[in-house]
Amino acid sequence: MKVFKFGGASVNSVERIINLADILRKFPHEKILVIISAMGKTTNALEKVTDAFWNEKIEEALKLFEQVKQQHITTAKYLLVTHYLACEGKLKNFFTEVEWLLHDKPVRSYDYYYDQVACAGELFSTAIVSAYLNETGIANKWIDVRDIIRTDDDFRDATIDWEMTSSNVQSSIVPLFNDTNIVLTQGFIGATDENESTTLGKEGSDYTAAVFANMLDVESLTIWKDVEAVMNADPKQFPDVRPIAELNYNEVIEMAYYGAQVIHPKTIKPLQNKDIPLYVKCFLNSTLPGTIIHNMPVHHLPPIIVLKEKQVMIEMSSKDFSFVGEQHIGHLYHLFEKLNIKPNLTQNGAISFLCVLDEWNEKNEKLASGAAEFLDVKLVKGLSLLTIRHYNKELFEKLTNGKKILLRQQTPETIQVLIQ
Ligand code: ASP
Ligand code: MG
Repeated sequence: MKVFKFGGASVNSVERIINLADILRKFPHEKILVIISAMGKTTNALEKVTDAFWNEKIEEALKLFEQVKQQHITTAKYLLVTHYLACEGKLKNFFTEVEWLLHDKPVRSYDYYYDQVACAGELFSTAIVSAYLNETGIANKWIDVRDIIRTDDDFRDATIDWEMTSSNVQSSIVPLFNDTNIVLTQGFIGATDENESTTLGKEGSDYTAAVFANMLDVESLTIWKDVEAVMNADPKQFPDVRPIAELNYNEVIEMAYYGAQVIHPKTIKPLQNKDIPLYVKCFLNSTLPGTIIHNMPVHHLPPIIVLKEKQVMIEMSSKDFSFVGEQHIGHLYHLFEKLNIKPNLTQNGAISFLCVLDEWNEKNEKLASGAAEFLDVKLVKGLSLLTIRHYNKELFEKLTNGKKILLRQQTPETIQVLIQ
């Protein structure tokens, strides 16, 4: 058995959904659990619906939701003939679920509403794709993953109840494969034991796929993406990037830690625990080799570059030129924990402590004002954080040439600089 995960970009148009079917057709005799994200930017659109609802702009919320509905109905109409009505019926039930909620007044937390609305994107996309596959001869069973993935009620960042979920997988998914080769379901979402929808964190579908891969103890997980493989840098930022054929779990965890947008950071652990290889393949050209990520030592990796733009440096210094010691640092880390802030870089000096954060993080203000109670705080915006793993001198010089370096951190494997 295998798990395939298709992200939002792989289902964001009629052509892409047809292409997804073509990929599945190449695996006629395999048992495959297929995990699919919401179409394109649907989750972001639903986020806007939630915002409008939260600000009690009901009309606007309904209008924005109407657009999302129409997009899905249009896609379904293009793709389906014999299965259209059944699919439309299913979509309409999901629409009603959301619309009921939008007519209420917000009385619970924002995150709660976010999850009740955002989960719809995955339900819509999978309903359409499943119907299309069935119509075109790729028999599959659709399931609502909220009946399987049980979580706590930490909305927008829910934690999976491993035991309950495993037992649901055994009792409700495994038997389906007796009658069908393909079971199709959603990533990213789950539900509490009170049947409230939850989400596992932005871009969480990769993680869902890895959880299922682990619980079903499959031979491999394949994540289908719009890039030819895992690249050594983001092609949108650097002109001459190259594919990496082979990586190991640790390298991918390191890459994710430094901010490479490869796959969701939580994805690796469930795979590592069962030694399940992860393939990253290109859905636009499935004959390309892609990347294999597994447990083997991998030598001779190319330099891997991560550039985080729009960074802010917060410099916190003692008010009286005394050393910034354990007590200050302790307080600061307590603030990080309380605000759930993960700095992209920290550096400690005699009378100051520096931390680098994403500029757009709305919690930065809270951190700065919290720290200002016991330290002098200075903010520098508009910075970029460059990280190179497996660096060499030439490349480092090329990428930093003529730039002002505000901060630098270096180990034999990794070099990081903060650039103005
Ligand atoms: N649709 C969700 C998101 O946009 C989950 C995912 O794509 O992995 O974050
Ligand atoms: Mg996505």
